[in-house]
Amino acid sequence: MEAWEKIKKELVSMYKDTNDDPWITILNPLSFDNNALVLGVPDDFSLDWIKSHYHEDIVKLARTLLNDTTSVELVIDDREDLETNSQKLPPAGFIPLNNSKGLLKNYTFDNYVVGESNKFASAAAIAVSQNPGKAYNPLFIYGGVGLGKTHVINAIGNLIDNEHNGLNIIYITTENFVNDLVNHLRDRKMDLFREVYRNCDVLLIDDIQFISNKERSQEEMFHTFNTLYEEKKQIVFTSDKLPKEIPNIEERLRSRFEMGLIADIQVPDIETKVAIIKKKAEDDHIGIDDEIAFFLAYNTQSNIRELEGYLTRLSAYALLTKTKLNIHVAKEVLSGLIRKKDKWLTIDDIQKAVAMHFKIKVSDLLSNKRMKFIALPRQIAMFLSRTLTNASYPEIGLQFGNKDHSTVIHSVNKISGMIQENQSIKDAVEKIKKGLG
Ligand code: ADP
Ligand code: MG
Repeated sequence: MEAWEKIKKELVSMYKDTNDDPWITILNPLSFDNNALVLGVPDDFSLDWIKSHYHEDIVKLARTLLNDTTSVELVIDDREDLETNSQKLPPAGFIPLNNSKGLLKNYTFDNYVVGESNKFASAAAIAVSQNPGKAYNPLFIYGGVGLGKTHVINAIGNLIDNEHNGLNIIYITTENFVNDLVNHLRDRKMDLFREVYRNCDVLLIDDIQFISNKERSQEEMFHTFNTLYEEKKQIVFTSDKLPKEIPNIEERLRSRFEMGLIADIQVPDIETKVAIIKKKAEDDHIGIDDEIAFFLAYNTQSNIRELEGYLTRLSAYALLTKTKLNIHVAKEVLSGLIRKKDKWLTIDDIQKAVAMHFKIKVSDLLSNKRMKFIALPRQIAMFLSRTLTNASYPEIGLQFGNKDHSTVIHSVNKISGMIQENQSIKDAVEKIKKGLG
């Protein structure tokens, strides 16, 4: 209907930055006679919603664009097949009960490496999996991008699926939850939507921060939550923000997120990164020695996804060129990704940083002095030269006062071992590395 199309176009552009425009597409123009525009909506809920949120704007636009006495009436129109809008959007993605749970099968606790950075979150996740609905409800897992939230929430689902036969588990991203809701509203199938989400035993919602600004989805999430919670069904959320940091959500929903246990995943430390690399390499049958593992761990900023990207590239290279991986190959293959080729640190930079940290002279590092307060920094400087520069063992030896390459190898091995056992060495190395950028 032409009259409605004009109004709709304006509405869509008015609301396009607010995520509210799907609500406009569910309106269906039924008639326009005697200056009365009648719009159909699928159900009671949408009627109330549109009345309280959009009616005023629609009337204003109708009076501006059509005729200044136009009235706009909203009626429930539950005829089954309204082809008008349905054809423009993809078909609704109904989740069949007791069927596809949407779980990502490859993310399990078996291949989830636990370290200092995630031991709290993973302990909470395991507790919830062993006692769904009873341990912590909801469990709210929060952490930065690429740190393992999607992995751990799926691991919960997979473990529950293994240990508690027959429980109905749904894993869904918030984005898909929102889409599913819009589709069901459009198709007038809200009964089915509610039947699915309010009757499961475990609801796993990934990336809940995306519910920000989406009022109607917040409303539905709130009621879904309450129903499940009252029936002691387990709910797990992940988010890259704390509940109090998610903008534009209703207070009552925020307080639900905070009601159970909030567990965070931190940026992994070097040992955890090394353990993750080794585990992935083993699972993917890529030959990665300690040296490469440390090299990778030291040269990634924070994100585990980034680490995986490097590993994939290394293994592809090894496979395609039939080359055996070693640290030289790794540095060569990844140099463009890890740092710009000409921006490798120099051994000089490292010697200065180490000397400064330990308050000794660079010339001491190059000397043959064996006192511990000099020998240890020298070994650390050699280790860092090996992990952060492109230099070979003999080259490093040469730049440390012409030492034999076997001395360098010994130092590198010693420090890699100590980092795994000795907190103060680990902290020192980490701090020097940070300073080097
Ligand atoms: P997020 O959802 O927090 O952005 P993901 O769960 O997608 O992060 O993790 C990114 C990648 O890193 C995934 O492939 C995941 O398997 C891997 N990963 C993250 N943490 C770990 C860990 N502790 N052990 C093993 N792999 C991990
Ligand atoms: Mg994720």
